[in-house]
Amino acid sequence: MNGRPAVLTVDLDALASNWQALARLTAPARCAAVVKADAYGLGATPVVRRLLQAGCREFFVARVDEGIRLRDSLADVWPREARLYVLHGAPREAEQDCLTYGLVPVLGSRQQVDHWRALARRLGRALPTALQVDTAMSRQGLSPLILARLIDADDGLAGLATELVISDLVHARNPQHPANRRQLELVHRWRQRFPAARASLACSAGIFLGADFHLDLVRTGAAMYGATPTVGQRTPMRQVVQVQARLLHCQHISTGEPMGDRNTSRAQRPTRLATVALGPVGDYLCGPASHGRLRLQGRRMTWVGRPSTDTVTVDITDVDDERLTPGRLLEVLDEVQDINALAQLARTNAFEVLTSLCGRYRRQYRGSVPL
Ligand SMILES: *Cc1c(COP(=O)(O)O)cnc(C)c1O
Repeated sequence: MNGRPAVLTVDLDALASNWQALARLTAPARCAAVVKADAYGLGATPVVRRLLQAGCREFFVARVDEGIRLRDSLADVWPREARLYVLHGAPREAEQDCLTYGLVPVLGSRQQVDHWRALARRLGRALPTALQVDTAMSRQGLSPLILARLIDADDGLAGLATELVISDLVHARNPQHPANRRQLELVHRWRQRFPAARASLACSAGIFLGADFHLDLVRTGAAMYGATPTVGQRTPMRQVVQVQARLLHCQHISTGEPMGDRNTSRAQRPTRLATVALGPVGDYLCGPASHGRLRLQGRRMTWVGRPSTDTVTVDITDVDDERLTPGRLLEVLDEVQDINALAQLARTNAFEVLTSLCGRYRRQYRGSVPL
């Protein structure tokens, strides 16, 4: 048996095709890619390199150091017109880095605004700036009160070249929720105070609320990486992350023989078992919520015994598939057992699943990109 037991592959062409689909859906708004947390674990450098190739020119990271790393690793291909926004703003010690690397901080508190404005004054020039405005009383971003004060004060936002105003939808995954429209109205009201700035409200789920919500710019993460944008719906996006598990060995056992690593049950009939190296995805697929079933090669199977950290034993007695031979790599994720299904099993979201999975396998890439 050759090779690693389980493999996670990032399909960069599927990623690019998802971004293009979202960009077409949201045009003439611009479609920005959110690549925080190492592009949700998929690897920010190859992801952004592929997205640049696909035509994406606007990116969001969370922290300044993420922005620096991207600019350094992509110095050879970074287009002059591309924008890189930093969602957490610019901490004082990183202000100079923002300027050096052309990162635009998203300012979300009075203090951040004060510091950035003081820097602009020291330098004697207007600094590119994005503002995050709280339209939902969720304490994410500048409150309406603070923003109004800043706008009305003579030196409040002077010296800041505000090019983008963003806000976050709190209930975007629920299209029926009345808060969505309310937030949209508030953004429209605020944008009048910043005639030169673009406005942005929609993340992945917000994109699917309709064209009204696209404004000047949308910010997609999860959907671009293959997750479903709305609760309970199948994703229209292609799967970007693939996991393959190696079939380690097969065994036949007779009726009455014990099965499973702790001999917790006995075979009710002549049984064929396969031991499969699932890797970390097993934590999702073999939890209590899985009811003892998982899919491999697009087929439902029952697992027996108790899965160990990395391997699981499945009953393949009734599975008529000659590809189930030792050494084979089996597809773990498919259109049913996808990132969203894993998130549901673990009662979490696609971001958590992707970052945790990608971080625990050795990643490999597929798709047309020079790495
Ligand atoms: C993470 C993030 C996004 C992307 O959200 P998805 O649901 O993954 O599309 C958009 N905007 C902000 C401010 C974010 O922090």
